[in-house]
Amino acid sequence: MKVGIVEHIDSMHRLPGHPKCGVPHGHTYRIEITVEGPVVGGMVIDFDALKAQVRELLKPFDHADLNRLIDYPSCENISVEILRRLRERLAGDRLTVRVWEGEGKWAEMEG
Ligand SMILES: [Zn+2]
Repeated sequence: MKVGIVEHIDSMHRLPGHPKCGVPHGHTYRIEITVEGPVVGGMVIDFDALKAQVRELLKPFDHADLNRLIDYPSCENISVEILRRLRERLAGDRLTVRVWEGEGKWAEMEG
């Protein structure tokens, strides 16, 4: 069974060397977290607990310069970094992180 939550952050970044994204600019990122596992006691994971963990994890990313957190903060690398940090908090579950960069563009990392 899969369950998921959605959070949003507003952040700035730049992608050095990229013709369009090389200058500092901002996005509203939609962060979708999916947890897959067995249903135990009626739940895969408590939504409140999951939300609390993810909100805590995303705090340093919100209203922040992502280049200070990630060397090359592409949508792909942001997904990888969020999954890495989530993995430290939720060991044992199968996790998917999908990061939307504005509308119509996303990257997804599973692990
Ligand atoms: Zn951008």
